[in-house]
Amino acid sequence: MNIVLMGLPGAGKGTQADKIVEKYAIPHISTGDMFRAAISEGTELGVKAKSFMDQGSLVPDEVTIGIVRERLSQADCDEGFLLDGFPRTVPQAEALNELLADLGKKVTYVININVEKEELISRLTGRRICKVCGSSYHLQFDPPKVEGRCDKDDGELYQRADDNPETVTNRLEVNMSQTQPLLDFYEKQGVLKNVDGQKPIDEVFKAVDAILQQDEQ
Ligand code: ADP
Ligand code: ADP
Repeated sequence: MNIVLMGLPGAGKGTQADKIVEKYAIPHISTGDMFRAAISEGTELGVKAKSFMDQGSLVPDEVTIGIVRERLSQADCDEGFLLDGFPRTVPQAEALNELLADLGKKVTYVININVEKEELISRLTGRRICKVCGSSYHLQFDPPKVEGRCDKDDGELYQRADDNPETVTNRLEVNMSQTQPLLDFYEKQGVLKNVDGQKPIDEVFKAVDAILQQDEQ
């Protein structure tokens, strides 16, 4: 099962991805997480990505497509994978189709999580992330059991540098203008599935899971 999760920043991709990979045992591949790891490790990729990320702009396609190609070629993707945060542009989606074709695979479903802008802003500005595993929490909507600590590994929770009100607005605008052509692209391919993301986390997961189960049968 080769899944692409789509939705504007804050729609709940990371939150739903955690639940999907737990149930379906496929790797969660998040380009944002890969860039953040590269930055904290100080690699060449991290240096390239950082200036774009700090502004809330997209990292150039050639860099991003390169890391995805390398990751999808690894053996743990043989039984499927969950892409989160990639593709974000039509050239990236075309590159993904080509590289999957080279590997004898294709995208099974594109799950698009829909949430309104005002709700996205409050989700992003209240988001806190685990330093160890990258899990998302929210100060009001999904608080951890112990304040400031991850439920899974007791890691320290932090606020992403780009989750401040100024950067959030730019990220949402950049994403909105790029998302529609991408949705049209996948609609034409007949793989697009829309989910109402305004509902509570568990209800959104039920809707996502119902789609994924169609492929299991
Ligand atoms: P994305 O990966 O799409 O940017 P996240 O999964 O990190 O989004 O979620 C953004 C923020 O919103 C997090 O703080 C998360 O805890 C919270 N959140 C996710 N899904 C919901 C939901 N259905 N209702 C309320 N808050 C949510
Ligand atoms: P969000 O969904 O909240 O924007 P991500 O963690 O997915 O957050 O991405 C953080 C940043 O990483 C983006 O603002 C962008 O700079 C970069 N990035 C992630 N995925 C891509 C991609 N597919 N193409 C280009 N840049 C990306």
